[in-house]
Order: sequence, then structure tokens, then C-alpha cells
Amino acid sequence: MTKIDEKLQPILDDVLRRNAGETEFLQAVQEVLESLGRVIAKHPEYADHALIERICEPERQIIFRVPWVDDAGQVQINRGFRVQFNSALGPYKGGLRFHPSVNVGIIKFLGFEQIFKNALTGLPIGGGKGGSDFNPRGRSDGEIMRFCQSFMTELYRHLGEYTDVPAGDIGVGAREIGFLFGQYKRLTNRYEAGVLTGKGLVYGGSRARREATGYGAVYFVNRMLATRGEGFDGKRAVVSGSGNVAIYTIEKIREFGGKVIACSDSNGYIVDEAGIDLELVKEIKEIRRGRISEYVDLKSGSHYVEKGSIWDVPCDVAMPSATQNELTGKDAGTLIRNGVTAVGEGANMPSTPEAVRLFQEAGVMFAPGKAANAGGVATSALEMQQNASRDSWTFEQTEERLAAIMHDIHDRCAATAEEYGVPGDYVLGANVAGFVRVAEAMQAMGVI
Ligand code: GLU
Repeated sequence: MTKIDEKLQPILDDVLRRNAGETEFLQAVQEVLESLGRVIAKHPEYADHALIERICEPERQIIFRVPWVDDAGQVQINRGFRVQFNSALGPYKGGLRFHPSVNVGIIKFLGFEQIFKNALTGLPIGGGKGGSDFNPRGRSDGEIMRFCQSFMTELYRHLGEYTDVPAGDIGVGAREIGFLFGQYKRLTNRYEAGVLTGKGLVYGGSRARREATGYGAVYFVNRMLATRGEGFDGKRAVVSGSGNVAIYTIEKIREFGGKVIACSDSNGYIVDEAGIDLELVKEIKEIRRGRISEYVDLKSGSHYVEKGSIWDVPCDVAMPSATQNELTGKDAGTLIRNGVTAVGEGANMPSTPEAVRLFQEAGVMFAPGKAANAGGVATSALEMQQNASRDSWTFEQTEERLAAIMHDIHDRCAATAEEYGVPGDYVLGANVAGFVRVAEAMQAMGVI
């Protein structure tokens, strides 16, 4: 474990004390503060006016009741959240997650990560996150719609294209964004396209937004591999998850000449040595909203492993793209023994701190989520830009912007790591490069 700077330790202690029990939030804060010692040594002014303490405290946290009626006529109650973490660089921006594991600590960790991720894109977006402990699994379209309408009935008063702009995350895709946008429009009597991103193409969505997080992560890892004269060509890759991020990660790896042999969902994983049949995965997940185990019934030569760890499958490149803390120290040990050369996080904080440490000690190239998965939110900012100018770009134009942004994030993280004396440490590079941008804006604005 990196030792934390003595000036920063009391700040961390205070965050620990004031947010007791919020495990994931504390993990995210600790990781960032571990990176900041070198910054404070060089620029002590960044610690002035309790700037770091202020960054660790959300500007506003909204928690609300979400009542709705299920198909059986029963009243259900869920809890809604929106944490508006930091608006120094632009309106709060970040997704909504609908998953039974959601609580205030999860939303705060995601919101905190989002601040630095969004800063790294170089685009004018602050950091926020929201969601609910609502479980969409097995719910009808009507139930999803009524839930989304009830959720927005409270949330709308806190949003606005210049205030706070949500998007999707786990459990929130194009269908949910449509219902949320419809209800926002109805409540406000305003066609304010830029208030939500991830919209459908016919009502103000951006081309390539759906593909952006996965494609972006692959662009980042490809650039990272290039620093060692390598690429995806001929590499075996494992991508955990089978949602939006995983699907488009697999698609881009294939385009770059790699072979993805395994993917998963929360019940288990599939292995297909011939290379995952992506059309089949899309059919199962995007159209049927089914489980990944259905794959093996439709594709011979593949097999399904229930429970177990997908990281037992030997590969050259691992891209955890499911959820937080899905890749443990034990998994990292297995991947290293099996010869992994690069790890790129498509999900938010999927590797535990111990896993990250093991990868770095073993000399495995490691791309942290807040840099590698920034392509999704970057393309959301491009969607906002198109909405503001009432324009609609082509797929090629949008993907070109995305690729350029990802290369720029990679290069900035690499250059920052080098500048601070730890070349190749993308964790430090991302934390510091993101922090400096936010810190400078906050300093300019005084104590707010
Ligand atoms: N939920 C995504 C993320 O983790 C996207 C957020 C957005 O597009 O606003 O960055």
C-alpha cells in the first residue's frame, strides 16, 4: 500500500470518520489521496483554503422516495439518489445506476471518480452520479416506465442543461433514458434536449454514444500497448460483463485484430476459444434481455462456468467491464501467473486496491477506469454540444473525436506520471492530471 503523505493523512482520517461505513467511497478517496502527495510537495498551494477537503465533500446530496405501482397492483418503494459532487468545470455530469446494490456510499464513490474522469476529458463537465436501489431484472416495460416516471417526478427539479445532466449506467440504457426524458419534458413543458444524454437518435441522441465507453477503452489500451511497440493484433482478451461497455469493447478489440474468448454476467461466464460470437451476445443481451448462459445452447464448442472467476481464463489483455471490485488480489495473481501483459478497466473501479498493486509490481500495464472508460462521458459531452448547436454529427465524425480524446487522455496521463517521477503509473497520472484541472478552477473561484 502506498504511504499517504503526512499532510494528507489528517484529511483522509476526517473523511473516514465523517463517512463511516461507505466502503467504496472511502476506497476511491484513499486511492486519489495516495496520488496527491507528490502534487502537494511540488505545488503546496493546492492544499490551501482546504481545497482537498472541499473536493472530498459533495456540493449537494439528494435522497428521495420513489413510490410506484407494479403490474400486480402492489405499491413498491425504492430510494432515489443524486449526488452533485463538483461543478467547478461545468454542470454536474454522470450516469444513473439502477441496481439493488445501490446505496449512498456507492453513488458517492461513482460521483467522486466522475469528477476526475470528466476533468480528464478536457470538456466542460463537472462530476455527479445518481440512481436507485430499484432492480430492473424481470420487470415489464410498463413497470420500468412507471418507475422512471416516479423517479423523474422528484429529480426533475434538480436538473437542467446548465445545472445537472444525467445519463445511463448499470441498469439504465436507451429505454430508461427515453422514459426519463419524456417525463422531464412533460413536467417542465420544455424540450430541453441537453438535460439528459444517451438519448435515442430520433430525439437528440448522439451517434456513437452507445459504443463510446467500450470503443474508448480499447482506444486507450491500444495506445498504451503501443508504448511498448505492441497492439491488439493476435492477442487473446478476456472482457468481463456483457452489458453495453463489454459488448462494444469486444467489438473494437475484434476490429483491432484481437480475439475475445470470454465474457460474463453476474451468474457466470462463457468461454469460446473460437472467439466470442458478438452478434449472438447482442441478440441475447440487447434484444432478449436474457442471461449469458443462453449462449452455450446456441453456439457449439463453447462452455459456461457458473459462479467461478472469469479471470481464471488465461489471456494477454484483461478488460474488467462489469462492476466495482470484481477483480480481486487473488484474480490479479492468477492473471499475472498466466502471463497477462495489459489490464484496462472498462467499469468503474473494478480492480481492488490489492489487485492494482499486484499488477503494478509485476510490471503489467494498468489503465484505471477513470481514464480508460472516460469515452462514454466524453461522448455525452459531445451529445450536449450537438444539442446546444441543434446539430447532428455523422458516426465517423463522432468516433474520430472520441479516438482523439482517448489518445489525448492517455498521453496526458503518461506525461503526468513521467513529470511526477513514476513513468508508466497511469493511476497516479490520471488522478493527478484530473485533480490539477479541478483544483485550478476551484482556486480561481474562491471559497465556495
Ligand atoms: N455512467 C457513465 C460513466 O461512468 C457515463 C456517464 C455519462 O455519460 O454522463 O462515466
